[in-house]
Amino acid sequence: MNFNGTNFDTYLKDYPDEKGYFGPYGGIYVSPELKAAMEEIADAYYTICKSRKFIAELRRIRKEFQGRPTPISHLERLSASLGNVQLYAKREDLNHTGAHKLNHCMGEALLAKYMGKKKVIAETGAGQHGVALATAAAYFGLECDIYMGQVDIEKQAPNVARMKILGANVIPVTEGLATLKEAVDAAFAAYAADYRNCIYCIGSVVGPHPFPLMVRDFQAVVGIEAREQFVEMTGELPDAVVACVGGGSNSMGMFAGFLNDPVKIYGVEPLGRGPALGDHAASLTYGTEGVMHGFNSIMLKDEKGGPAPVYSVASGLDYPSSGPEHAFLRDLGRVQYDVIGDEETIDAFFTLSRMEGIIPAIESAHAVAYAMKLAKEMGRGSILINLSGRGDKDMDYVLSHYGLR
Ligand SMILES: *Cc1c(COP(=O)(O)O)cnc(C)c1O
Repeated sequence: MNFNGTNFDTYLKDYPDEKGYFGPYGGIYVSPELKAAMEEIADAYYTICKSRKFIAELRRIRKEFQGRPTPISHLERLSASLGNVQLYAKREDLNHTGAHKLNHCMGEALLAKYMGKKKVIAETGAGQHGVALATAAAYFGLECDIYMGQVDIEKQAPNVARMKILGANVIPVTEGLATLKEAVDAAFAAYAADYRNCIYCIGSVVGPHPFPLMVRDFQAVVGIEAREQFVEMTGELPDAVVACVGGGSNSMGMFAGFLNDPVKIYGVEPLGRGPALGDHAASLTYGTEGVMHGFNSIMLKDEKGGPAPVYSVASGLDYPSSGPEHAFLRDLGRVQYDVIGDEETIDAFFTLSRMEGIIPAIESAHAVAYAMKLAKEMGRGSILINLSGRGDKDMDYVLSHYGLR
């Protein structure tokens, strides 16, 4: 399919280019030493990802350990309440550990094993990426160091407990505001000091090349499965696909399955409390081009050009940028990015729970809220939502801050 001059028949092979660029976005913007480490990972990945042994092992793990393929559920009661559009959900909440993040963590940890690394390193904010990586490390018998801001450690006690039970070292970071940004810096520094023995595992389609490529490839299983399942269930493709966008991994995985199809694709960003800087994390909607955390993309900047403070009710979405591929797909017009705020998200959280018996992660509830709006606009047709995770982690927060609805 040709779309605005770009050939999508070969898109996934053509992008990123060998330097890690999606058009102007992506690349490797790190110190020379870390750049050498990134190039080593890229070289290893380009070779290993084609190995039949690696592919077979990843397939077996997905089936026997993760519980893939995850199903698609037809949201019949929700659809009927909205009119004639049929809504469907790809159930990444049923993936082991309850979200899509394990898809790329298992891939990254398997790559670490093939590269002969002993340890995986990462930062975590709310702890979701840390738990997924600690799970993967336990499975492969790798050491696991997770850097986490002291403030987040105190807020996210259950995830800290999970990581520790899984055998990970949770390393408190006390510098600065002691949250995600400082944890990223500390994890990068630890990795630079010991990159021969370990591998840095990024939690989304962000960071320097090859991470946006690798994480997309590992998450693409979601879109590939979903396309096949949807056609089998309904005999046709969905009219629209919807996913929430933080760093952009669950959405990129889902979109990868449909880029070359006559399907409308929507990425949903968090509008939080509203459009003023600091009240949201809708980087593709309100941001400008810049470099952050080792890559060039669209981002929300403060007055000095650094990453701006961001906010969303969903801690998994409050990142001041998104992956370079999303910036590229936005510019091409292939994916339409739009926003949903906290209030509509909380309504959708309760609606999906009450009408379908599925408690979604607050992140995923952004996609549900958008799909509900879109269904009313479309009048007829079908929408496939990527339900990126389950909401058990959010129940206490929602009840104490919003009450029952
Ligand atoms: C982390 C997380 C997200 C956001 O990350 P992406 O990289 O944008 O997918 C979305 N949903 C859930 C359930 C998450 O845990």
